[in-house]
Amino acid sequence: MKKKTRHGGAGCPSRDCSGGDTNRQKSLTEGQKKSIPVSIGHEGKRCNYCGCVYIKNHDLNMSTHTILGFLDNGIFGEGWHEYKE
Ligand SMILES: [Zn+2]
Repeated sequence: MKKKTRHGGAGCPSRDCSGGDTNRQKSLTEGQKKSIPVSIGHEGKRCNYCGCVYIKNHDLNMSTHTILGFLDNGIFGEGWHEYKE
């Protein structure tokens, strides 16, 4: 079954996320930051639908994201899972 995916916009940047709308995108808590083995600045966000952790890049003309991985993802399980293309 083909699922409609959404790219860009203000919601979750993960291609596989079907329910990560804008108000599910939260800043990481200090505890969540400690669960992640990579350095994430204050720009880090997490989608509380799929657990996608990403950084918003500030480009002049477009909004892009760098996905670092998933924290407590419903499919991958609990803990940290590094993002792989
Ligand atoms: Zn998501």
